[in-house]
Amino acid sequence: MYDVAIIGGGVVGCCIARALSRYAVKTVLLEKEAEVGFGTTKANSGIIHPGYHEPLSTLKGRLVVRGNFLFDQLHSELGFGFKRIGELLVAKSPEELPALDRFEQLAHEKQVPIERWDQAKLQREEPNLSHNLVAALYAPTGGVIDPYEFAFALCESAQKNGVEFKTECPVTALKDCGDKIAIDTPEGTIEARYVLNCAGLFADRVAEMLGLHDFSIHPRKGEEYMLDSGLKGLVTRLVFPLPTPTSKGTLIIPTFDGTIMVGPTAEDTEDREDLTTTPEGAAQVFKLVRELCPSISDRSVISEFAGLRAVSDTNDFIIGPTAVRGFFNVAGIQSPGLTSSPAIAEYVLDLLGKAGLSLVEKDDFDPFIEPPARFSKQSVERQKQLVAEDPLFGRMVCRCEMITEAEIHRAIDHGARTLDGVKFRTRAGMGRCQGGFCTTRVMEILSSRLNLPFEKLTKRGGGSWIVAPMEGAKPAAQKDGAQSAEEEN
Ligand SMILES: Cc1cc2nc3c(=O)[nH]c(=O)nc-3n(C[C@H](O)[C@H](O)[C@H](O)COP(=O)(O)OP(=O)(O)OC[C@H]3O[C@@H](n4cnc5c(N)ncnc54)[C@H](O)[C@@H]3O)c2cc1C
Repeated sequence: MYDVAIIGGGVVGCCIARALSRYAVKTVLLEKEAEVGFGTTKANSGIIHPGYHEPLSTLKGRLVVRGNFLFDQLHSELGFGFKRIGELLVAKSPEELPALDRFEQLAHEKQVPIERWDQAKLQREEPNLSHNLVAALYAPTGGVIDPYEFAFALCESAQKNGVEFKTECPVTALKDCGDKIAIDTPEGTIEARYVLNCAGLFADRVAEMLGLHDFSIHPRKGEEYMLDSGLKGLVTRLVFPLPTPTSKGTLIIPTFDGTIMVGPTAEDTEDREDLTTTPEGAAQVFKLVRELCPSISDRSVISEFAGLRAVSDTNDFIIGPTAVRGFFNVAGIQSPGLTSSPAIAEYVLDLLGKAGLSLVEKDDFDPFIEPPARFSKQSVERQKQLVAEDPLFGRMVCRCEMITEAEIHRAIDHGARTLDGVKFRTRAGMGRCQGGFCTTRVMEILSSRLNLPFEKLTKRGGGSWIVAPMEGAKPAAQKDGAQSAEEEN
């Protein structure tokens, strides 16, 4: 019997799990995918918004500024990739200036630090932006983050402090038992006094398992395009046009690693699994970003992906108790959900406390985890030291991103079980060749560490196998001297 069960291991579920791990509360998180963060959390723009775009009349508008504020402390405790690079909201013509004025006013109301830049200052600071842009609002608290690294770090910290995580564990049915809720999973039935529905795109389906039909989720697809690292530095701050009614617009995003990404689109769809990119989406993105920065071209694209926003029919976050005692929705967490996630966790803990959950702080809560050793980011002296300490730092697995074998092993030590799990933890496979060089090397290491033949390895769990078994082939032999995961444990 758990005090709290969290359904969904996206950034929202993981933030709540980590926040609860500070207290003497028996918590379990149930995630249907092979690893946490494999839902919308892995496919977004990675922006920590300053938070002045949404009005205070909405819940998302109230939580986003607090969420932004909480990132400094989380970053110092968990060490995920995060930088406040600042955000520019630009006016493309004099006709757009009144809208810029309104956002400036909103920023003042929300006490978000903001500066008004004229055309000359904008051209001095960002010389590669279009000279047609007439003015901008500069918000220094805007930042960029590695969203999956954030989710993994939250998960690791929560686990370290006692939260149980069950992956490949979809919730299939829920039953209201009065003073507790029974949760069916393929691993059996779990009981909890409080259940938090953080199931993202499937939150309405999860609520329906208890006969609740208070809201519905409407996926809104966003396509994003990653450009070659040769364009690093072209633009150094986030660049936003004025928002549209359905999105914050199509942006230029210098990601945490400096690579430029452009997107997203905003297309409503009925399909909750449709993560395809399209020629139309690409054409639209490049047309819009070239109005902001004419030297950006679709010829520089090295990879592309799509994510689905879980838009609720209220167009706002839906967070709170329901008609079923102990069952809370944390749903409709569309953008700026990543930014708001730490504040959502605070808000949910407050609600749980008011509903009767005893929140007694543990004496032994440890807020820190060991951040990953990024070999490529170290000084040459430190690199030499690392290689002397562990020769696997001297073996390069991913040439584009300079990821060493030691870093792949560390990722597996810290929970990676799939190719994407390794990629998102280390960046192996994210560079110019998109895994052409390192995929088989990473698979060899995964295969020997997890004691799985190649054909059982997956890209992201489920049926996403990478190679097909060859007819008549013998099972893949384990490498000499390699230990199985069981032996090591
Ligand atoms: C293109 C795009 C760009 C965006 N850019 C930004 C941005 O720059 N900044 C920002 O602040 N926000 C951004 N967002 C929004 C942000 O990504 C989301 O708000 C956030 O990731 C939502 O997290 P979540 O945990 O609610 O959802 P998810 O990450 O989707 O997590 C939900 C989890 O629930 C699991 N689940 C579902 N059903 C079940 C079940 N039955 N049993 C067990 N588990 C289940 C899923 O597998 C999933 O892992 C963007 C979104 C998109 C699509």
